[in-house]
Amino acid sequence: PVDKDTLGRSTWNLLHTMAAYFPDKPKKEDQKSAEDFLVGLSKTYPCPHCAEDFREDLKKNPPVLKNREDFSKWMCEMHNRVNEKLGKDKFDCSRVMERWYEGWKD
Ligand code: FAD
Repeated sequence: PVDKDTLGRSTWNLLHTMAAYFPDKPKKEDQKSAEDFLVGLSKTYPCPHCAEDFREDLKKNPPVLKNREDFSKWMCEMHNRVNEKLGKDKFDCSRVMERWYEGWKD
C-alpha cells in the first residue's frame, strides 16, 4: 500500500528540485510544461484527499512561473500551506535555495 509520508517526501523532493532548477528566464513553453505537470499531478496524485486539496489550492494560488526564484518561493509557500494543514512547522522560505539547490542533509 502507498505510504502517504514516503510518497509525500519523495514528491516534495521532486517538486522543490524542479522549481530550484527551473530556468531563470523561462520560455512560454517551459512555463506551460511546469503548469501542465502540476495540474496533471494534482489529478493523479495517489492520495485522493491530498489530491483534492491540491487541486483546490492550485485554483486559489496559481503557480508563479516568472523565473526560478519566484517559482521556488511559490512552491515553498504551497508546501507551507500543507504543513500548516497538518500542524507542522512552517519552513523559512528565504532558505529554500539553500535547501533545494545547494542541498543540506535533514
Ligand atoms: P515533508 O513535508 O515531506 O518535507 C520534506 C522536507 O522538505 C523537509 O524535511 C524539509 O527539509 C523540507 N521542507 C519542509 N517544508 C518545506 C517548504 N515549505 N518549502 C521547502 N522545503 C520544505 N499528507 C497528508 O497527511 N495529508 C495531505 O493532505 C497531504 N497533502 C499533500 C499534498 C502534496 C501536493 C504533497 C506533495 C504531499 C502531501 N502530503 C499530505 C504529505 C505531507 O506533505 C508530507 O510529505 C508528509 O507528511 C511527510 O512529512 P515530513 O515531515 O517527513 O516532511
